Amino acid sequence: MTRIVEVATARLIRPLHTPFVTALRRTDHVLSVAVRVTDADGVAGYGEAPQIWRVTGESMPGIEECVHAPLAGALLGRELTDDQAAEVHRWLAGAVAANTGARAATEIAVLDLLARRAERSLAATLGATATELGCDLTIAAQVDDPSAELLAPGFTTAKVKVGLDPADVARVIRIQEQSGEGTRIRIDANQAWDVATTVAAVEAWQAAGVGVDLIEQPLPFWDLAGHAELRRRISVPVMLDESVFSVHDLERAIDAEAADLVNIKLAKCGGVHAALDIARLARKAELGVMVGSMMESELGLAAAAALSAVVAPQETHDLDAAWWSIDPDDTGSPYRDGRFVISPTAGLSRAVERIEGSLGPWRVTTA
Ligand SMILES: [Mg+2]
Repeated sequence: MTRIVEVATARLIRPLHTPFVTALRRTDHVLSVAVRVTDADGVAGYGEAPQIWRVTGESMPGIEECVHAPLAGALLGRELTDDQAAEVHRWLAGAVAANTGARAATEIAVLDLLARRAERSLAATLGATATELGCDLTIAAQVDDPSAELLAPGFTTAKVKVGLDPADVARVIRIQEQSGEGTRIRIDANQAWDVATTVAAVEAWQAAGVGVDLIEQPLPFWDLAGHAELRRRISVPVMLDESVFSVHDLERAIDAEAADLVNIKLAKCGGVHAALDIARLARKAELGVMVGSMMESELGLAAAAALSAVVAPQETHDLDAAWWSIDPDDTGSPYRDGRFVISPTAGLSRAVERIEGSLGPWRVTTA
């Protein structure tokens, strides 16, 4: 049993070594808010909430206000036992609507705190035994330099961002040819296409002998009927991302027969235990599950990796976001041979040590 006495935030800003471009946005920095929750014994846990205007609608100032007002109000002074870990996300969801990234970061900070008290990794406290995970690497949309369209050494699955350029269909064929036969291709249109465009693209790839593992969110988030129509017309599995924030969104998608797989992201659903609920429903409906993330640092990715290790340890997840802000020669990187390695240290402590230099000053709210 312990008591939460302090909630704090700091801006977490890191430059990318390569600009990240999708049909929704272009960015050359990680722009996040780190959340720190401290108990009466002085043990602290950490989480990360990314600024993602075009998906969650969250901004750094909005995340900060949310954490310091309603979320701090829901936590400060609380007596906390280990077996309440699964309840924390409900306390936070009861304090504020939406703000899923702020809630996720705050829940994860509490889970990190509890894991550190238990001297176990976050993944271990969730029951995971996997120590590393398969990971794809994103190839950004609209890359002008063809050499930037090759996978970095070790990676074998490319997630190609499309949707900005009519030449995308040919570009995917070129990427497959350049990358060699062992490379697996996933496509993510980030809502930019319509049914006809998607069907034509898939037919062109199949005619060219390009094997596409899955196509992610080709249509706008609200268009479940369109995704269902696509599933009837193409043989490539359809994965929903922006359409599914909550377990209720997934229920609707299942009812509409709109998905073969779902991409679960902590910043969309509000935290680890909300994500586990989504994964449980997906499995019951025989949908595939992949864990992804927003553009985040190693802190957010360490939490996403812990979730991946619980829900689908054998899957190749979408955990490459932090790769974009880590020097390729950094020997402490969690990315090794195209896999994400989970640190066995307590909680998320290893990731926090590695991003501390990217944090601004802490703003503190106490009980
Ligand atoms: Mg996506």
